[in-house]
Amino acid sequence: VERTLSIIKPDATNRNLTGKINAKFEDAGLRIVAQKRIQLTKAQAGEFYAVHKERPFYDELCEFMASAPVVVQVLEGEGAIAKNRDVMGATNPADAAAGTIRAEFAESVGENSVHGSDAPETAAVEIAYFFSGLELV
Ligand code: ATP
Ligand code: MG
Repeated sequence: VERTLSIIKPDATNRNLTGKINAKFEDAGLRIVAQKRIQLTKAQAGEFYAVHKERPFYDELCEFMASAPVVVQVLEGEGAIAKNRDVMGATNPADAAAGTIRAEFAESVGENSVHGSDAPETAAVEIAYFFSGLELV
């Protein structure tokens, strides 16, 4: 079965939405196989989002991701990467389908409540960024 890396972002942890977002994953058939709350530094956020280094929103994104604790989790299931992105909804909540996490909870295109890996290669790198082999059973 496939695994993907998910992050509940500061806008959502600030509003105490972790449980409601976890329920969305579980209702979609995704299993939370590892999870922890951490505080990223701006440098760590920058390293995680390095692919966006040249984008105009990069600095704002890194500030935001370091502004409060985040909850990181590994989700497992059949087609977990695509399924998670379906459950998340479009990047901009204005475009997100009804019932998705971003449609229900996101505040803006930047403060959009969740991150999800976008391909098997990035999922493997992102899972290893946050979790050791011992934490993954
Ligand atoms: P994520 O990678 O967080 O799962 P995504 O794949 O839907 O989201 P990306 O295009 O990879 O979207 O952008 C990464 C993140 O950068 C977005 O989730 C959002 O927080 C932020 N972002 C993207 N576009 C903008 C924008 N135009 N203005 C501000 N922030 C943005
Ligand atoms: Mg992305």
